[in-house]
Amino acid sequence: MAEKHTPGPWEGEYDESEESHVIRMATAIENPARYSTVHVWECRHGLSDDEEHPKTRQRFEESEANMRLMASAPDLLAALESMLTAWDDECPDCKCACCAPAPDDIVSPAPCSMCMARAAIAKAKGE
Ligand SMILES: [Zn+2]
Ligand SMILES: [Zn+2]
Repeated sequence: MAEKHTPGPWEGEYDESEESHVIRMATAIENPARYSTVHVWECRHGLSDDEEHPKTRQRFEESEANMRLMASAPDLLAALESMLTAWDDECPDCKCACCAPAPDDIVSPAPCSMCMARAAIAKAKGE
């Protein structure tokens, strides 16, 4: 299925000169001159990677963790879609709140992992 988002892989890095965390998508990795803006996401926090104050260091590391999570999004999406396909998008005999056939059958109020996967995919695709 064709995706609307820029194809992966996406790569995140700390840009020291801009004091930013940056995510470059495949097109921008391959051709930085042409795709320097629309296929690059940047968090320009102005923090240095040698921050020593614990609170500032924590903010830098949180930004870095956020960057890694966002940069991995195309891989996570592809993996989840592949898992749902492999499992035929079914969880037989599931008794979670969203899969149970009737309200009396619900055993777990929390969504099962299949429902969580479907919801995450829908969120990623804006559906
Ligand atoms: Zn289920
Ligand atoms: Zn479910």
